[in-house]
Amino acid sequence: MRPSTIAIDGPAASGKSTIGYHLSCYLSYLYLDTGVLYRAVTWAALDREISIADEAAVTHLAEGLHIDVMPSTETDGRQYTVRVEGRDVTWAIRAPEVDAAVSPVSAYSGVREALTRRMREIAALGRVVMVGRDIGTVVIPDADLKLYVIASAEERAHRRQLERQTKGERAEYEAVLENLQQRDQIDSSRAAAPLKAAPDAIIFDNTDLSIDEMLKQAERLVDGLDPNGCM
Ligand code: C5P
Repeated sequence: MRPSTIAIDGPAASGKSTIGYHLSCYLSYLYLDTGVLYRAVTWAALDREISIADEAAVTHLAEGLHIDVMPSTETDGRQYTVRVEGRDVTWAIRAPEVDAAVSPVSAYSGVREALTRRMREIAALGRVVMVGRDIGTVVIPDADLKLYVIASAEERAHRRQLERQTKGERAEYEAVLENLQQRDQIDSSRAAAPLKAAPDAIIFDNTDLSIDEMLKQAERLVDGLDPNGCM
């Protein structure tokens, strides 16, 4: 039987969203990239000029903020549309300023509690692929299938740089690498729900795989087949 709840975790730009989105299409499941919730809170704090260092104010914001994640409403390459209080912030939440501030925001336990509650409501419906940092360990520890996706930091930085350049943005390799490493460091060392593999997660290293190979292996995993068997 195919898994109904699929938890995918891993460090920044490891390929987990690409895998998660693909599997949700392959299985006709709901897809939730939980990073967008943390990004939406961070974006709103910056937009309202709330100090990122003010834990109480940022937590209060997270508790009341209206965030909608819905199927894509535009044909501009997005996987989904994200709205904060009705405003389309799908691309704004990917800005370097948000990249720089999102990990400190995500380390606040009150922010995590508010967002985890919303994630669990969605997971309870089943037939869902959820992607993040603590999905298999904290959000849905009883998920039917858990993947922990990794790739070398250099490979991840190259991919993120290419992604940015394809969108016509400037992206220096060194700056991208530094941001990924900084976020991984904060995400894995924080006290609340740190980034780590669940003991029962399958470690999925895709450093040397093409996107096609990576997605084929992921399909085989949800089908209960040997991921390295003949394709
Ligand atoms: O996945 P993405 O890179 O968009 O996530 C942005 C940030 O959100 C991460 O660096 C992490 O700080 C936070 N995050 C988290 N827990 C999740 C998903 C994301 O702490 N489940």
